[in-house]
Amino acid sequence: MESPKEQISKIKQTLPPEVKLVAVSKYHPAEMIQEAYDAGQRIFGESHVQEMVQKHEALPQDIEWHFIGHLQTNKVKYIAPFVSLIHAVDSDHLLREIDKQAGRLGRIIPVLMQVHVAQEETKFGFLPDELLAYMQSGVWREYRNVSIRGLMCMATNTDDEVRIANDFERANQLFNTINGQWSTVNGQSSMVNGGWDIRSWGMSHDYPIAVRHGSNMVRIGSLIFGERE
Ligand SMILES: *Cc1c(COP(=O)(O)O)cnc(C)c1O
Repeated sequence: MESPKEQISKIKQTLPPEVKLVAVSKYHPAEMIQEAYDAGQRIFGESHVQEMVQKHEALPQDIEWHFIGHLQTNKVKYIAPFVSLIHAVDSDHLLREIDKQAGRLGRIIPVLMQVHVAQEETKFGFLPDELLAYMQSGVWREYRNVSIRGLMCMATNTDDEVRIANDFERANQLFNTINGQWSTVNGQSSMVNGGWDIRSWGMSHDYPIAVRHGSNMVRIGSLIFGERE
């Protein structure tokens, strides 16, 4: 296994320039994050609230912390002061709480809606039709302290590349549908606080497929930092 620094530079060489790399550092110690930071990486992804809070305190303040895991409503308040992007909003209830905490802090918190496209029962997220119905409801327009920037998804956990590609393609089409129907009016953004430009899909084993199917933000952990404990 090569160092995080070498891995990051290899991955970056394969990514088109418009694709952002989130280095998923969950379960890895602060020293490894610091090494990646020293190599120029600034965006890190975590999926546990307490771990992200501790790392945020211990590491350089210009790191952009992305929360990529399932977020419990009662824990939003701990990350709201500093989180740069919340990837996995999977209910109106959670979005409302993020809006509330952001409002208290006078912040606008960027978020992504998580869409469930995998052929598995266990994953969180809105089904595509549920998300369309939610967008149609317009409830989200009441939330003035969030910026809904786009979609996040995970593909089916399989070696079948066709299936993975299909999952990403469904997310990509949903992104475009929402873009066409709700995000712009007369060429102007009509999302609250602007946005609708982020497509977060692709992990260590499937990110090249994700990039071929619309991703502009990949979340890569084990390929950079090695296997997690
Ligand atoms: C852990 C995790 C990743 C990174 O997974 P790797 O296979 O280690 O690249 C990406 N996205 C989410 C939501 C995760 O929980």
